[in-house]
Amino acid sequence: MSRPPVPVPGCAACEELATRRDEARAAFDGSAETDAKVLLRQHQGREHGGPPAAGRRIFRYVPYSIAQDASAQPEYEAYCVSGEEADCGASSGPRQAPAEVEEWQRLHTQETRHLRYRRSFAAYAVLEKQD
Ligand SMILES: [Zn+2]
Ligand SMILES: [Zn+2]
Repeated sequence: MSRPPVPVPGCAACEELATRRDEARAAFDGSAETDAKVLLRQHQGREHGGPPAAGRRIFRYVPYSIAQDASAQPEYEAYCVSGEEADCGASSGPRQAPAEVEEWQRLHTQETRHLRYRRSFAAYAVLEKQD
């Protein structure tokens, strides 16, 4: 029994139990309030995946967690934006490490005298249903 259960938006059962709890509280009916809280917690454990696992970022009210995708490496990339009217457009392609991208930039600058690059970093994330 940790934090109080919060109704999940759009879930009729949550709404019904939360309303029952709020009405019991308003009527100073402590045991009815506790009953509704327990039912709400049980319902959420069944229907919404229960309490979040430790060490994960959790969307409030939504039973999904977001984690770095361990099966895919982050990607570093540089794109040459030198040029008078249009970008040169040469690209390092996705690389596994920033040093590889810098090496590509040095070579490209050596060959072309181009000096401006747009650099990007991409990582993969997966949403996991809590259950
Ligand atoms: Zn619900
Ligand atoms: Zn270039």
